[in-house]
Amino acid sequence: MQGLMMDRQLLISAIIDHAASYHSDTEVVSVNTKGGQHRTNYAEIRKRALKLASVFNKRGMAKSDRIATIAWNNFRHLELYYAISGNGQVCHTINPRLFADQMTYIINHAEDRMIFFDATFLPLVDGLRENLKTVDAFVLMEPRDDETAEKYPWLEFYEDLIESGDDDYHWPEDLDENDASSLCYTSGTTGNPKGVLYSNRSTLIHAMMSATPDVVNLSARDCLLPVVPMFHVNAWGTAYAAPMVGTKMVMPGPNLDGKSIATLFNQEKVTVSAGVPTIWAGLIDFLEQSGEKLPFLKRTVVGGSACPPSMIEKFRTDYDVEVLHAWGMTELSPLGTVNNLKNKHDALDNDEQENLRCNQGRPPFGIELGVFDDEDNPLAEDGQAQGNLYCRGYWVLNNYFHSEGDDLRNGNWFPTGDVATIDEDGFMTIRDRSKDIIKSGGEWISTVELENLALGHPAIADAAVIAAKHPKWDERPLLLLVEKPGSEFTESNMNEIYDGKVAKWWVPDTFRVVDEIPRNATGKVRKNLLRETFGDSLMDDPKLA
Ligand code: ADP
Repeated sequence: MQGLMMDRQLLISAIIDHAASYHSDTEVVSVNTKGGQHRTNYAEIRKRALKLASVFNKRGMAKSDRIATIAWNNFRHLELYYAISGNGQVCHTINPRLFADQMTYIINHAEDRMIFFDATFLPLVDGLRENLKTVDAFVLMEPRDDETAEKYPWLEFYEDLIESGDDDYHWPEDLDENDASSLCYTSGTTGNPKGVLYSNRSTLIHAMMSATPDVVNLSARDCLLPVVPMFHVNAWGTAYAAPMVGTKMVMPGPNLDGKSIATLFNQEKVTVSAGVPTIWAGLIDFLEQSGEKLPFLKRTVVGGSACPPSMIEKFRTDYDVEVLHAWGMTELSPLGTVNNLKNKHDALDNDEQENLRCNQGRPPFGIELGVFDDEDNPLAEDGQAQGNLYCRGYWVLNNYFHSEGDDLRNGNWFPTGDVATIDEDGFMTIRDRSKDIIKSGGEWISTVELENLALGHPAIADAAVIAAKHPKWDERPLLLLVEKPGSEFTESNMNEIYDGKVAKWWVPDTFRVVDEIPRNATGKVRKNLLRETFGDSLMDDPKLA
């Protein structure tokens, strides 16, 4: 129709163009893989991304060809994000913590044509190389060094590629916002990992919404340190949202221990961060031992697994840091919900507010949630009715990459595999993964809730609750825990954790002390493994029979 607005495509290249035009000198600070720090800015990142993109053309990369990365958070990885997607190729970020055969599987499944990787992963790539069918360029994300070049004659060097790029290259103009831009695989706790293919459009809309005040709340006055890796759902979208609004970025490279993170937070005056609970547990341990504080950090997004309420409280009371508890999935780019209270909650007392802050929060514009029973009937959103969580929206998966089946339910809902409740304002509480929830005597018990309480106990360093088979009740909760150094956990401590906090029949009958809680490549507890080891252990317990 005549008299309409401009029809501009929502392209990822536009993010870095904007950052380079209006935030050209805003810094991107990186910890290098081989040590030391590097400082650059958005104008430089764009310039080098364009040069690299011109090299992709010379190498014959076609639209939608996949180019993979196995890399930490650093400036070269950011350049690759924009060079690859800006040029119409698909940036396939690979989680180096996957098992080698899973990596081989996903590289072959994605049909990656080039792989860029950090020095840490050179031995890994060397080991995989033989089995990779489609890759014809292996690029180390470093300047050339002769010794390495001699040892690995098949290797190319990132800075050589940049050097050979064109200075006057422009982004292709024939891209459509629905063209694919990046590819992430789920961590594949059971079965092979599945590919989720994002588009320019879904990525841009997700980034725009993530920057808004009730989501991550990013601005040109902020400094963001994404602890969440760029191989974990695009650093939860922050690698797009930050340049979009001119937020300074601090990239921690390979050093994700408490001390390194705290040092960077204070050195660079970081105001906002994001990461999984296990990272924050390490940071808090360091802060407690060293007595160091975080005078600049205002808030941090915590998600990927449930954030224990004791962690939210500690951040707030001891460090004046607000935790934004968030829930998401690879299939959701990943943001689904973020916990930010509303004006009306000012009227609640402190305990009620604290309580509300502990759930996974509410969806931003662009995401719709629903809870359904096993026959796909919608359940009430009253904070009580617990059911299968389904989701739809602008940045939600339609079909897995190369999947032949229909991955949606009930027409157009994506079934998340989580069990949740939703209240009248959309605040959502994850009760469990449906495959982890405990069914005891016909009633459901949430392992997440039992773990959250256990993690607040002073003698417990880490904990997981699993369904253990039981002769009378079918399944009963079993608490597995790692003791804090110097502490001993006894049966009587169980009462301190659970008495008055949950129904009596929810309380685990017993516990087992373990050396470590096994986690997968994205920090989630490997409950299937724990069930294999401990799932039958109550069957042999005579006092329970
Ligand atoms: P990721 O890329 O984070 O590993 P996955 O798709 O593998 O994403 O896992 C997503 C799952 O992680 C969710 O379905 C949910 O079970 C769990 N999860 C994510 N965030 C939270 C949270 N804040 N609380 C509880 N569970 C969470």
